[in-house]
This record gives sequence, C-alpha cells and structure tokens, in this order.
Amino acid sequence: MLEVRNLVVRYGGITALNSVSITVPKTETVILVGANGAGKSSLINAIIGMVPISEGSIVLNGTDLGKILPYDRANQGIGYSPEGRRVFPTMTVRDNVLAGASRLGRAGQSAIYEKLADLFPMLEERANHYAGFLSGGQQQMVAIARAMSASPRLLLLDEPFLGLAPVWIEQISKAIRAFRAEGVTVLMTEQMAVPALKVATSGYVMRTGHILRQGTVDELRSTALEEEYL
Ligand code: ATP
Repeated sequence: MLEVRNLVVRYGGITALNSVSITVPKTETVILVGANGAGKSSLINAIIGMVPISEGSIVLNGTDLGKILPYDRANQGIGYSPEGRRVFPTMTVRDNVLAGASRLGRAGQSAIYEKLADLFPMLEERANHYAGFLSGGQQQMVAIARAMSASPRLLLLDEPFLGLAPVWIEQISKAIRAFRAEGVTVLMTEQMAVPALKVATSGYVMRTGHILRQGTVDELRSTALEEEYL
C-alpha cells in the first residue's frame, strides 16, 4: 500500500533520514521503533508533506505523494495523529474529533462520532469538555479519533503511547487492533518497543536516520530491541 524508497530528508546541513526504505502492506500495522532523534517523525512528516523530500520517493497505492501538495494528501486517504497529540485545548472533545470530518453533513458526523465512541467511551462521557483539561491518555484518544473521523485508509500515529500509563496504552492498543480489523492500514512510531510489538504485525528499528533491522513482530521480539538499539 505504502512504499517508501531511498528517502532522504535534510534540515539544512542535518541529514535526518539517509536513504530509508520501508513497505507498509495493506491492512497491516507496521511500527517504526527507535530512540529520540532516530528519524521516526521525519519519516511520518515526509509522508504527510510537512517536511520536503530531498531524495527518494513515497508512493501510496500507486500515487507518487511527492507530486501531491500537502493539503491534498488527506484526499489520498491518509489520517495523521501527531506526536504530542496537539489537540485544540479550547475546543470541546466533540469539536476536536469532528475537525477531521468537516466534509460530512450533520448526520454523517453524528454517525462517525458514535462509531468512534464505541471504541473510546470517553468521547461520549466527555463530549462537551474542553480537550485542554483532559489527561494525556484522553487527549491521545481525541487525537487518534480526530485522525480516524475522516475514515482514512492509512492511519499514521506518531508516538501514540508516549508518556501514557499502561491503562491508556491498553485502550489505545485495543482501538488500533479494531482499526486493523476494519481494514485500516496503520504505520506507527514508538520508542516503547514492548507495547508497540503487541499491536503491530511487522516493523523496523531505526537509528540516526537509518533502518537497522526489519522483520515480523516475532522476529523483532526475539532480539533484545531496547537493550541493543534504543
Ligand atoms: P523524537 O522521538 O525525538 O521525535 P524521532 O525519531 O522522531 O525522535 P526526528 O524528530 O525525526 O526523530 O529527528 C531526526 C533528526 O532530525 C534529529 O537529529 C533531529 O534533531 C533533527 N531534526 C528534526 N526536526 C528538525 C528541524 N525542524 N530542524 C533541524 N533538525 C531537525
């Protein structure tokens, strides 16, 4: 579904990604594991067009994303939940989530909201609360639900577990599995290899702009990832 080939991303003199290639097959959940500065966010941001590609290509379902302007990439079926969540703090939970569904009519928005609330009950309980007052785990759910409200085929999650207590990680993992069961393809980054390997089907280990290892979850689990690489 998604093919990243020999991708190079530079910020001035800094090379953040140095010829990175990954494949994300349809309906799989692929993780990019790596420590701070490995280049995980740069890869996600290159896919959505937030950082320019210096070399290489990103092809989604046969479409070269490098030829599509960033604001048109959402039309390609890409949903994105950023690192650090970035919810709109003075908007309600419901308005945050439906910010991703502005193209739907009122009935369509209600239907998608109900569907997402089945996965994240707090969306129902806190619908009218300001997102800025929520806990980190709840804000993460709002950010993921916002990305899913546009019904993407490819969901990009940048460090969805960062700083969260195990109880929230478990709920978010359950939702990611449910998305996959519905046919959504997921690419997620994580520093926390252990919980990420529980939701993924395959993955890549990154360090300083390179892919160090790749494999199925079982293959990656058999190595002491965190000790060796992170
Ligand atoms: P983190 O978990 O900290 O976000 P990461 O694996 O996502 O780490 P990136 O954020 O992609 O890594 O950073 C990769 C490299 O690029 C790092 O050396 C970082 O300092 C550098 N970098 C990232 N963004 C910029 C920027 N806007 N300008 C200059 N250098 C940057």
